Amino acid sequence: MASCSEPLRKKQKTERDEDIFTTFHDVYLSKHPFFTDALLKFKQEITALAAYEIGSCNAADPDNGYSFTKAVCTLRSTKHTFAFANFFVDAFNMLKNFIVKKEIPSDIQMKLTLELLIRYLMNDEIQEALSQTKECSDETELTVLLAFHLFSQLSTSPYFIIDNRKANQPKVCPCRKRHGRIIYGDTSIGNVDVWHGYLDLIMEGSDVIVDTLDGESEIFKDVESAVEVKQKHFEMTDNSAGSSLVQVAAETIVYSFYYKQIHPDHKNSLIPCIGVSNIGLIFYFYDSVNDVLLGSTHFPLASSNPFELNLTTVIALWFVLNHKYLCNGFSFIEMKEVPKANFVDAAKGKLDIYKRELKRGQVGTRRGNTTSLDPLLIVNPKFTLAPELE
Ligand SMILES: [Zn+2]
Repeated sequence: MASCSEPLRKKQKTERDEDIFTTFHDVYLSKHPFFTDALLKFKQEITALAAYEIGSCNAADPDNGYSFTKAVCTLRSTKHTFAFANFFVDAFNMLKNFIVKKEIPSDIQMKLTLELLIRYLMNDEIQEALSQTKECSDETELTVLLAFHLFSQLSTSPYFIIDNRKANQPKVCPCRKRHGRIIYGDTSIGNVDVWHGYLDLIMEGSDVIVDTLDGESEIFKDVESAVEVKQKHFEMTDNSAGSSLVQVAAETIVYSFYYKQIHPDHKNSLIPCIGVSNIGLIFYFYDSVNDVLLGSTHFPLASSNPFELNLTTVIALWFVLNHKYLCNGFSFIEMKEVPKANFVDAAKGKLDIYKRELKRGQVGTRRGNTTSLDPLLIVNPKFTLAPELE
């Protein structure tokens, strides 16, 4: 009978839930005593986020709306950095109290989010495939591998969508195991009159966007396997138009304004974006209400050779992918001490579009008053010929 079996099922479920937390302490932490150090790094300068100021910028060009690949956005360091944990205070304390005092959060959502991290850390099989990132033949393969083996594992909702304009669209994960169908679709965002374009990957339920970082590909021999691998290096100093950092900044800003547009009631307006390469990740954040742009250092995927996942990177990703529940924005920081990005000034002429007219899907390319620069294609030109030639 339903009335009898129901409480029994519930009881079994609760016991199973508590088991995973206990096993984590008894088994995982004894095998990984450095986990606490990995967590404490979020209070240290080694993982600090820098605040940037925007210099030259084509976000509000009166004649054109630029795609992310043509975005100009000079980032200047303000020389002010912030501890990563400042923006995830409750989440940091929850994790610390769980590790140190075995405290399990009473809030259901927080408990569920913590469980995601714990289950992932104890799942060696799913982590192992990440050692193949260097063998991925292109950025789509890398995106698929990271989406299945990292991002969807650490998100409360595993659904993601990949840009359907990619030339190569693998049907299965590069690890050759079937995890479910890969959805390719329209990932366009923005508005053709301002910054706009296609995102590489959108983690749907988490509301997090992911961009693959372009860089110089170098072929070199892997020391362990003696196999030749292609690895991309991108410059953390490259501010030029269309560079990886500029694209990530432009996408972060547009997505943050879009997020505010669709979630006007959300208290936190500091929205993240993840940049990925086959050796690691970077995180950018933009707050469209306070006009602050933050960026991280490079977080490596591996912490040792042979491959072992870097725990600090996993925790950072867990914070970011669950920003809807875990990010507190600037609520623990004196706002007057935080340098402004000055995007609001840079985009003054078109700020209303960023605030109210961004959309996702079918953004397309710029229409309307586009005129050809080819003299032969100019309609009814005023043609001048020197009288001496007549
Ligand atoms: Zn896989």
